[in-house]
Order: sequence, then structure tokens, then C-alpha cells
Amino acid sequence: MERKLAGLEPERVWYYFEELCRIPHGSGNTRQISDYCANFAGERGLRCIQDEVGNVIIFKPAAPGYENAPAVIVQGHLDMVAEKTPDSSHDFLKDSLDLFVEDGWVGARDTTLGGDDGIAIAYALALLEDDSLPHPALECVFTVEEETGMDGAYALDMSVLQGKYLLNLDSEEEGTVLASCAGGLRKICTLPVERRETEGMAYRLEITGLKGGHSGSEIDKERGNADILMGRLLYEIGREMSMVICSMKGGLKDNAIPRLCEARILIKKGDEGELERVIRAVECDLKGEFAVQDPDIAIVCEAEGEKEENALTPASTTKVLFFLNSCPNGVQAMSHQIEGLVETSLNLGIMELADEAFVAHFSIRSSVRSRKYLLCHKLEFLCELLGGEAESTSEYPEWKFRAESHLRDVLCAVYEEQTGKKMQVQAIHAGLECGLFDDKKPGMDMISIGPDMRDIHTASERLNIASVERTWNLLCEVLRRLKD
Ligand SMILES: [Zn+2]
Repeated sequence: MERKLAGLEPERVWYYFEELCRIPHGSGNTRQISDYCANFAGERGLRCIQDEVGNVIIFKPAAPGYENAPAVIVQGHLDMVAEKTPDSSHDFLKDSLDLFVEDGWVGARDTTLGGDDGIAIAYALALLEDDSLPHPALECVFTVEEETGMDGAYALDMSVLQGKYLLNLDSEEEGTVLASCAGGLRKICTLPVERRETEGMAYRLEITGLKGGHSGSEIDKERGNADILMGRLLYEIGREMSMVICSMKGGLKDNAIPRLCEARILIKKGDEGELERVIRAVECDLKGEFAVQDPDIAIVCEAEGEKEENALTPASTTKVLFFLNSCPNGVQAMSHQIEGLVETSLNLGIMELADEAFVAHFSIRSSVRSRKYLLCHKLEFLCELLGGEAESTSEYPEWKFRAESHLRDVLCAVYEEQTGKKMQVQAIHAGLECGLFDDKKPGMDMISIGPDMRDIHTASERLNIASVERTWNLLCEVLRRLKD
């Protein structure tokens, strides 16, 4: 078979990367790639554990002279996000990725590339096969289903690991080392509501024109949240006239800032002109407040004429609006350990009004566990007071920042020697598998690095060739220096 990546350096890293790209390995379909790694170990006589869910750990003894050095865990995830262009006929269950090289980058035609996190596995396999490299004992840990909730890392039996250091290779920016990540959970708030047949003038309202974004990495941009803003608009209307809500819906994912929210309301005949005035006044306020973050913010208002609707009672309307105007949302605290890092936040991502209940989904994140739970409790308190309840799901632990890290110091020193540039130490306001290692094996010295990638999780994903080589050299030299 023709090798599209032949000739790229480091040769063995690209060789394994291409091998992995032949094997379909979207999240939920990782058995084959897991077996490939286990076979790799078997063929080379390396000790290997493949657990029930498909996680693989491959052990390699220390190189001569490194027998007394603490073991190093090299870690990445086996699954990739399976995305393709709308007109692609690619079958993620059967087809190999169609790799190409262009302007110094590797991509896959019409699909995600899985550089996130295939390159980590390729690095590890190249390290494991090369007996000329000086390094401490290696424990290469490949997890499954990271992209869909870190289920592999959750299931992993970490008691078999001896490593004192952990090199996670799931970052996407060369020159940046991650030293902490947020923990999080999803909170689903439910408030019971009552409806009754009501007559009035019906209107459809829409908050639109917002940019949205990722609820972790982009929460610091303080963009408008369409659901929260709808709550505010309806509250302002309700202050001026009698109004009840018929329907309300906004947002698609709990981890995305909602860009669009739609509601239908009823007001009394004769209040139409006043409604128009209130809406334009609120729109004018919002355009002023969001002039920089969301300059295209707009409120759409369509009259639907006189109707009878099964609308919320006035008391239920008030309850929903009290919730939306009182619940915390957005950035709650900034870190005092790492400049510019959001420490605690939450995002109302999805809101729906069903027949008998109002339901709101929040994504809570914090690098401080007690602050995560504080937000959790605030939402519970608010819901319970309003006769509802709040339930937690999808929890993941944070990776605490350590002011002192020998591994990070070695990495930063080597990077500066090799490139003449300073390594940036950063933390992210999103989850990483490192949080689970920190939780299950406290005290490990960890970092997360990786070569330059762009547009991950999309069909435009690219992996930078020169950066892959520099990161390989960095990795090898760091391992060489971890002698004591
Ligand atoms: Zn990843």
C-alpha cells in the first residue's frame, strides 16, 4: 500500500501515525485500534495490560543506567472525534482516513484527522520500539472514549502504575505546557409548572445574532447567553404589562453558549404598542452592553394575532422568570495562581419548557473542587425553593496546579535550549484526563504537551509536520534527563 507520509521526519512516528489512520477509531469504535496496540506489545515481548473497556498499558524497562530513575507514564487517548464534511461518503466504521500533505501540514480529506490524539499513540509506539533511546522505565497508557466523557480513564485501574511523572500528550499547541485543568459537572434543574387555557395577543420572540462559543475555553469572552437574555427580556416585559409564557426553547448543548433562544408569549389586547416599546428599549440596552462581544445581537418580534393557548399560569411564569434572572451564569471567579485563567464558571446551555416542567441544563467548571460544589449547591437551593429539584451528572475531577514541578522545570529548560523560546505555562478551563490521574493517584508530577494542531474536531483538522518533529525531540530529551 502506498504510504502518503513516507519521507516525513521523524520517520517512525509518521509510520505509526499512518498505521493508526488506517484503522477506524472514532469514539465508541476503539476495539480494533486497542488490539493493534496490544499486538504491537506482544510482538516485541513488552508487558501489556489490555483491560475490559479496551484501555492499553504497555510497559518498557529502563534503559541501561536508568534502572534507579522513577518510571514515567506517557499517556494519550485512542479514540478520535469522527466528523466529516456534509457531502463526504466516508464510512467511519470501515474506511481508512485519506491522508494528504499540504504546505507543511498533514490532513485527512473531508474528515477529522485524529491528530487529537493519534499523534500521542504514534509517539509512544516509536518510543517503545526504539531500544537505542535513553529513558527511565516507561508506562505507556492509551485510554479509550476520552472524547465522549473520559470513560476509559474512569475505568482504568491505576494501581498497576508505578510512574512518578506523567507526560500527557493531548494538547494542541507547541510552546505551551499545561499545568492544571478544571473539573466539572452537568446540573439539570427542573421546575414544575402549571398551564391553563388563556386568551390574548400572541407573539413570537427571538434573541439572535450571538456568537456563542465553547462554555469552557470561551466563557471568559463574556458573550451573550441567549437563554439568560430571554429571561431578562421577558422579565422586563412582565414589569410593564401582564404577560404569560406559552413556550420557550434555547441552546443545543450544555457545553456551548446558546446563540439563539425562542419564546412565545401572550399579552392583553391593547398592550401591543407598549410591548413594541419595551422590546426596542431592551434591544437598545443589549446592543450597548454587548457592542464589543456580540455586535449583531438582535431581538426578533412577530405578532401572531389573537389566540387561545395552553399557556403557563401567571405564577408559573413568575417562577420561571425568577429562576432565569437569579441563577448564576458565566464567569464566577478568576484564578489567583495563573493569570488570565477562569477558575470557576457555569453556563446555562440548554433550556426547554415542556408541558409540566421547565428544564435547564448547566455545565459547571472549576479548578477548585469546593467552588464547583458551591455552585452546585446554589442551583439546588434555588430549585428547591421554587418547588423543583437539581440533579448532577457527568462529573469529572480537576487537576490541581502545583507550584513546584520538577518535570515542568526540565521540560521548560529543554524547550528553551532547543528552540531559543520560552515555554508558556498555562492552565485550561476545561477537562483533561490528567484530572482523573490526579484524583486517583494524588501527588503525581504531570504535564500536558503536544505539537501544533488546528481545527481539531472538524473536517479541517491539521497537524503541523515541523512541530511534530520538534515535539519528538523535546520528548526524547526530557526522558533522557529524567535520570534521577
Ligand atoms: Zn484529545
